[in-house]
Amino acid sequence: MSQPQDFIYLSPPHMSGREQHYIQEAFDLNWITSAGANITGFEQELGGYLGMHVAAISSGTAALHLALLALGIGPGDEVFCSTFTFVATANPILYVGATPVFIDSEPTTWNLCPSALEDALKDRVQKGKLPKALILVHLYGMPAQMKEIQEITARYGVPIIEDAAEALGSRYQGQLAGTFGIISAFSFNGNKIITTSGGGALVSADAKLVEHAKWLATQAKEHTPYYHHTTLGYNYRLSNISAGIGRGQLEVLEERVQQKRTVFQNYKRLLEDVQEIEWLPEPEGFFSNRWLTCITLKKGSSLTPEQLRLKLLEGLIEARPLWQPMHRQPLYHGAAYYGGGVADDLFARGLCLPSGSSLSLADQERVVREIKGAF
Ligand SMILES: *Cc1c(COP(=O)(O)O)cnc(C)c1O
Repeated sequence: MSQPQDFIYLSPPHMSGREQHYIQEAFDLNWITSAGANITGFEQELGGYLGMHVAAISSGTAALHLALLALGIGPGDEVFCSTFTFVATANPILYVGATPVFIDSEPTTWNLCPSALEDALKDRVQKGKLPKALILVHLYGMPAQMKEIQEITARYGVPIIEDAAEALGSRYQGQLAGTFGIISAFSFNGNKIITTSGGGALVSADAKLVEHAKWLATQAKEHTPYYHHTTLGYNYRLSNISAGIGRGQLEVLEERVQQKRTVFQNYKRLLEDVQEIEWLPEPEGFFSNRWLTCITLKKGSSLTPEQLRLKLLEGLIEARPLWQPMHRQPLYHGAAYYGGGVADDLFARGLCLPSGSSLSLADQERVVREIKGAF
């Protein structure tokens, strides 16, 4: 739906101006579809940045689906998953016919709680079954507590699939998010820190896994001159046009990270005197791309997040609730859950503020005025 011109969106696409150049090249060579120099270029450039092998995929969700398939996960298997996330993190578990087990957050990073993870693993061992993988999300760009989580999963021999869809450019102890897991997924959907209009990537240090994922993503065609198939495949590759947009966006990734971080710092400074607002801190050793600036309202606040959201909307400003935890979704009714209600509390008290990397200071001051007015 179209909005008035001065409507402030949550996180709109922000072009660098270089995208057209790559798209024009694709048109000039008539490489419009699922092969071409932009795809290989995008894979190499993103791979160079991450120091990993990359497969360009049609969406982040499809990349997660392929990750589970590449690890051979299927019916009868259990997969652990962060409960506090967007539904696309969990749905691929159902696509492959496996069973999700949801794990709560901790309050420091809002991501997977190591002690809830440990409790869950102990309990599953007693029930006689270990999960085949853990899908770990770095929500809103904040890295999870990797050291503690890796120590636990290594002890139980459970591989980590990172959902780094929101965390491109974020770091934990200097290491980029999306380079910890056996396989990781990124998203380049329109509202992410960089976009390909729609798209994703599957990433791994293991070149064979990435090759296998590319093969699954191109209908699993056997290496014969005719069309011969022994495995169920998918049509999951990114188009050469979309990859061209991605190349133009990758050129400004570090700039976008700095812009998102500035948006966060501005909000924090300008709203300093609003006592009812709390901020997600960045602990020592953590570096968030601050994809979205999220706040929580203190217990006993004079406004609910929903009241604040509606006030902002009256001022032509888009704010959004935090993700509703997966164990609260009717879709996942009955799924096992381990935790103490941290994600529930965040959902009840949280709100995402407009955080576009192109948000002007003047527009941000308008948001701040509306927030102060609401309180
Ligand atoms: C956006 C997102 C996805 C899905 O990515 P698409 O490219 O939209 O399929 C997965 N997980 C998280 C946490 C996301 O934010």
